[in-house]
Amino acid sequence: MMRFKIVVLAAMLSLTAQAGAQSVPRIAIIIDDLGYQLEAGQRAIELPGPITYAILPQTPRGRLLAEAAHDQGKEVLLHLPLESIAYDGPDEPGSITLDMSRKAFHRTFGAALASVPHAVGVSSHRGSLLTRHPGHMEWLMEEIRDREGMFFVDSFTTPESVALQLAAEFGVAAARRHVFLDNERSPEAMAKQFKRLTELAQRHGVAIGHPYPETLDFLERVLADVDEKIIELIPVSEALNSLNQQAQTNSNEAAWGFNGPK
Ligand SMILES: [Zn+2]
Repeated sequence: MMRFKIVVLAAMLSLTAQAGAQSVPRIAIIIDDLGYQLEAGQRAIELPGPITYAILPQTPRGRLLAEAAHDQGKEVLLHLPLESIAYDGPDEPGSITLDMSRKAFHRTFGAALASVPHAVGVSSHRGSLLTRHPGHMEWLMEEIRDREGMFFVDSFTTPESVALQLAAEFGVAAARRHVFLDNERSPEAMAKQFKRLTELAQRHGVAIGHPYPETLDFLERVLADVDEKIIELIPVSEALNSLNQQAQTNSNEAAWGFNGPK
């Protein structure tokens, strides 16, 4: 496998270097849906700081991008397609569907994970149907629990998701998304989402963006000037436990990303 040597931006080290104060919100940013487009993926991987990369299984560029992210010291997730209520596009490789047997689930999950080297966790792609079904989410948590140290990130595409409850039952470390950065791709809308994240998160927050040119433009600009006295960027693996606690204690949280803070 050819490995890419990508220039490490000087800014990368300065982003988190002096974020000492305990009260600084800690923000994890995940770039989702990588695996098809090489150039956009490589550009995303060059973003400064400990950004996390969620890579779709069995995609033409997924393995190469996972290797490249890992070479840059970035965290890699398997971005596992879970059945959605709305999606009616072409089948996506590695998809988990409600009609699967336990055996087919196990086989599909194993093949998906094997196609994304260096994955330290699993995040959900789509999933507005499957994440509300406790049976299949139990199977998913069993698969994750059986792989030591692995965790789950719920992209939270439905407020009825039971993922975090089941993760807790199975002893799987988990987090969930709080905002999508780029549902609207204007710089103003993205800036608003970023600000909202830092306000809502208080201590920890997870944002998801996509490798759209507008998102990458925005993040390149914002991340180049992160003031570490105001926020600290962290890989998503560092946002796990306290998010679980927040999920249990903050009843408003279910509304995040749907109707805004209440
Ligand atoms: Zn996705």
